Amino acid sequence: MPAADYLVTIGLEVHCQIRTATKMFCSCRAGFGYAPNTNVCPTCLGMPGALPVLNEYAIERTILAGLLLGCSIPPVSKWDRKNYFYPDMPKNYQTSQLDLPLCIGGSVPLYEWNFPAGAAVSQAEAGVVRRVKLDHIHLEEDAAKLTHFAGYSLVDYNRGGTPLMEIVSAPDLHTPDETYAYLKSLQQIMVCAGISNADMEKGEMRCDVNVSLRPKGQEKLGEKIEMKNINSMSAARRALIYEIHRQAEELDAGIAQEQSTRRWDDTLGESIVMRTKENAHDYRYHTCPDLIPIHTASLVQKVRQEIPELPDARRNRLIAEFGLPAADAATLVADAALYDFFEQTVDAGAPARKAANWVINTLTAVLADKETDAAKCPVTPHHLAGIIDIVEQGIVSTNQAREVLDLIWGHPELDAAAAADQLGFKKTDAGALEMLVDAVLAENPDMVELVRAGNTKLINALTGKVMKASNPKPNPKLVTQIIISRFPGI
Ligand SMILES: [Zn+2]
Repeated sequence: MPAADYLVTIGLEVHCQIRTATKMFCSCRAGFGYAPNTNVCPTCLGMPGALPVLNEYAIERTILAGLLLGCSIPPVSKWDRKNYFYPDMPKNYQTSQLDLPLCIGGSVPLYEWNFPAGAAVSQAEAGVVRRVKLDHIHLEEDAAKLTHFAGYSLVDYNRGGTPLMEIVSAPDLHTPDETYAYLKSLQQIMVCAGISNADMEKGEMRCDVNVSLRPKGQEKLGEKIEMKNINSMSAARRALIYEIHRQAEELDAGIAQEQSTRRWDDTLGESIVMRTKENAHDYRYHTCPDLIPIHTASLVQKVRQEIPELPDARRNRLIAEFGLPAADAATLVADAALYDFFEQTVDAGAPARKAANWVINTLTAVLADKETDAAKCPVTPHHLAGIIDIVEQGIVSTNQAREVLDLIWGHPELDAAAAADQLGFKKTDAGALEMLVDAVLAENPDMVELVRAGNTKLINALTGKVMKASNPKPNPKLVTQIIISRFPGI
């Protein structure tokens, strides 16, 4: 039977590095981009006798994630040791949480703007298509980073011991497109709340995907196939599309599926079996004797005071408060740096709709052109508010404003008015401009006749003539308007 006759069930385990200054159980610096093995100490290297000290901030961030996603926070949470032997974990166990995690239940909203292009999306309510159930969120330490070469591997313990949140969904996803939207929505929530940078390219967010198929009408879930460490959202989607087809084909051919772990090779575009149930790890979990259980009540009370605005609430506010079109609001919400730029431009005095338009259309095009992002842009929100202001005042046209922006890019010491001045753009004296228009029309009687006869295309040519005759350069839109006013009835 075709793939459409199977019910697909997908579950996700997403690892998210928490944005903290230091590691989970020691005071070593956490973060990306340091020389290998420079942020280490006896605790995160697992030296005998070295004891852990909790990073309270990481616990608070995990509780914040839980509250944002509607989880319940149990009064007591505890630490467990997950035993395994591998060079990325020098203690031979990872400190994690098994049966008393920090957050239980909850859900992740699927935002309508996060589905891939062309996906069939059901009706959204205030931007949310539906909520995907979570099983729990727990906190653990990250392992060290291994880099494999031919015949040997190198290990960097800088990442070892970094606070890592694991967000475990219920088996409540059903399509590769939904999975993509889930990852993107979760990432936006984490970034928006400042919990994690969640940059998948830097490994700050990673995911394990599991998927099973069962014939329609069968209640019991099919055998679960897991794919580990997928490092981009589009790779997760590709892996699932492949795996659903592979399993459907095998089931059609009468080949029963066996619970197993596979590796997704994004270059080859196929998944390869790594291990089956018989040789699955036995982690011999047990309660960590070095760490006392966490009593969460006072932390929950503290974190409740600082719950930020979620992306859907932000999008709805942009629509209600500023009258932004839904698509513009979604674009701003999807990129935290772009949103901050917009908000600061509005704070600097620009009208919101104009600011949104400039940020979404012009600024993103310039940033793409210069291969940089909003956070590193030399043109500040204050500059942009100034540019919008001189356009509004009629000192420059939209095209001229783009020249102003380009000049400021290389000379950020200039403000918009000074840059416009340097480019020779000045506010037009309306009376003088009208006289100039009339003079140009008088000099071109043939063209005037043709326009009167209905050849309105010539208005552009007349505008060009007026522009050429003026110094400083007026706003061409204004010139066109004056010319049109000289031809009543066309
Ligand atoms: Zn350390």
